[in-house]
Amino acid sequence: MTANTPEPSTTPTPDPSVVETVRGVVDDLFPALQADLVSLVRIPSIAMAAYDQAHVEASAHAVADLLRGAGLPEVQILRSTRPDGAPGAPAVVARRPAPAGAPTVLLYAHHDVQPVGEGWDTDPFEPVQVGDRLFGRGAADDKAGVVAHLGALRALAAADLLPEVGVTVFVEGEEEDGSPSFRAFLEEHRALLAADVIVVADSANWKVGVPALTTSLRGLVDGFVEVRVLEHAVHSGMFGGPVLDALTLLSRLIATLHDDAGNVAVPGLVHAPEPSVEYDEAAYRAESSVLDGVTLAGTGSLAGRIWTKPALSVIGIDATPVAQASNTLTPSARAKLSLRLAPGQDPAAAAAALEAHLLAGAPFGAQVTWTTKETGKPFLAPADTPAMRAARAAFAASWGTDPVDTGIGGSIPFIADLLDVFPQAAILVTGVEDPDSRAHGANESVHLGELRKVIVAEALLLTQVAAAL
Ligand SMILES: [Zn+2]
Repeated sequence: MTANTPEPSTTPTPDPSVVETVRGVVDDLFPALQADLVSLVRIPSIAMAAYDQAHVEASAHAVADLLRGAGLPEVQILRSTRPDGAPGAPAVVARRPAPAGAPTVLLYAHHDVQPVGEGWDTDPFEPVQVGDRLFGRGAADDKAGVVAHLGALRALAAADLLPEVGVTVFVEGEEEDGSPSFRAFLEEHRALLAADVIVVADSANWKVGVPALTTSLRGLVDGFVEVRVLEHAVHSGMFGGPVLDALTLLSRLIATLHDDAGNVAVPGLVHAPEPSVEYDEAAYRAESSVLDGVTLAGTGSLAGRIWTKPALSVIGIDATPVAQASNTLTPSARAKLSLRLAPGQDPAAAAAALEAHLLAGAPFGAQVTWTTKETGKPFLAPADTPAMRAARAAFAASWGTDPVDTGIGGSIPFIADLLDVFPQAAILVTGVEDPDSRAHGANESVHLGELRKVIVAEALLLTQVAAAL
């Protein structure tokens, strides 16, 4: 007995003999699963239209074949329409409908990948295993997510442990392009995709050996601020002095966006509570490549500054290039700002707060305008749900370590769409990545030992979920 005796929980914990059985079966099946992951990574299914979309079609067919082979009786390749009228990328929907009265679990991943970029040590589409890690574009993000779902279903079938729940596997093909037809897809196939629990396998664990549930994601507002001071450019010698040029005025306005400590100084923005885990400063410095001698900005815990507070960056400026500079006063200047939103922040309210701050701060009475471009809602999981407790129990059984709650400083825009279309569903944001996975970067990799644990955990969760709800 410890001093803090936990309250009796109604959450079913996986039976140790079931854990052992599932672990053994996953060990036996793992070489074949790894080979399937290698085959998927070999397909260069880059999401963006500038790349050959035949590969995205091929990867959808490969995923469909794998899910059919995992015993799901209904497998379809479906697509919807993007807002611009173009056809959406192929998504795979594979189902075993729920027995009467039983819940349904939706397992999400995506089969498209990021472009390659520079700096790879190996061919990104010819996977290579080095030690415990498999390197290749999509090896982690998110073809490992596809294989996690596949592995859990194969393991349950092989162990004769198939639970009395409906299972729908939904593997999207345009996530890395911003999921343009996702919302339309959800609405068109609402009945097909309806679920009580949604497991999103597209995020990261805390580190190798420590699992995590992602319980918060920041939202986004971006747009343009424009400062206008003259009708047209004029000679900086004849007129300079009484009027400051637009770039100077824009710089002064931008300088009001943070306080002296580097905290966002826009009034009225939401700050969510501090996270329960601490982000290691040395790891942050190494992963972000911040230069020696640079002091970190902002106050409060490092994890809070990345996950639960707003952050504001200038991501572009329209100005005369230096090579074309002449001795004139610039009449107008424009910057693009990117504001990351704390969990709980309404994007429209954040955009209004930013606009009010910029207009109120117009330096020397210059004309200032703000134009909002993109917005994305943040995500904040409920503190505790039966599905989260079941997931934590399954993670703890697989890793032998309790999972931690983590946030993500960025956004996963489709999570907001899932919440909007299926407000009753419990959403579990999980994943296979770890801090060394370098998703979207060069030398992306998955830790194969962690992938094995994810598969065991997901299989255990599926055996427990009906009893937990
Ligand atoms: Zn992803």
